[in-house]
Amino acid sequence: MSRTPIIAGNWKLNMNPKETVEFVNAVKDQLPDPSKVESVICAPAVDLDALLKAAEGSNLHVGAENCYWENSGAFTGETSPAVLKEMGVQYVIIGHSERRDYFHETDEEINKKAKAIFANGLTPILCCGESLETREAGKENEWVVGQIKAGLEGLTSEQVSKMVIAYEPIWAIGTGKTASSDQAEEMCKTIRETVKDLYNEETAENVRIQYGGSVKPANVKELMAKPNIDGGLVGGASLVPDSYLALVNYQD
Ligand code: 13P
Repeated sequence: MSRTPIIAGNWKLNMNPKETVEFVNAVKDQLPDPSKVESVICAPAVDLDALLKAAEGSNLHVGAENCYWENSGAFTGETSPAVLKEMGVQYVIIGHSERRDYFHETDEEINKKAKAIFANGLTPILCCGESLETREAGKENEWVVGQIKAGLEGLTSEQVSKMVIAYEPIWAIGTGKTASSDQAEEMCKTIRETVKDLYNEETAENVRIQYGGSVKPANVKELMAKPNIDGGLVGGASLVPDSYLALVNYQD
């Protein structure tokens, strides 16, 4: 397979700069070769400077958890994608279900962020995923396909080829209830088919699709064995050096 697997930690609102440096020092010499598995940590904005400095010269890649769609101006409290780029950040998570739910982010706003991220030479990790209610109503495919279409609106095939999409069913986040590897594979396949319909076969073959939701060292291998799952977006299990290392070194 030509797609390089990508395991990304999403620290959410956890860790301070001191803990960040301790974490990086504990993992940095044991990370896989980035041509085999790409190791990423997405951290709170206040930790990024410490994370970048500690990770310098290592195989650890750095992402932010969010940003705004403008680079500067009167937008109190927001984070500039241009400054993230200047700092050396590579990835930005957008459209996480927690941001959609608690901060009322819309598909349109997420799409503006995707465009701003690309305009600044960064790579978005676009999250999508259905609630339990939507799944129980049998509407999960329709829901996720709608999020993907809206999130990718106006992006070029070249951009989509380079980006990462994370399928995170809301009912599996932080609940210990992982989607079965078959359920995860099925939706990741649907997402890839959607990209093929919107763009072309090549773009669909290039885009990397992660599964997220209670990914742990104990289930990562089974998930990563699926043909359409190219990585994991991991919350809780990415906060502890040993478990993060077990995740990124799942091929060993
Ligand atoms: P958990 O791995 O803690 O379930 O979180 C998943 C997630 O939301 C990653 O973005």
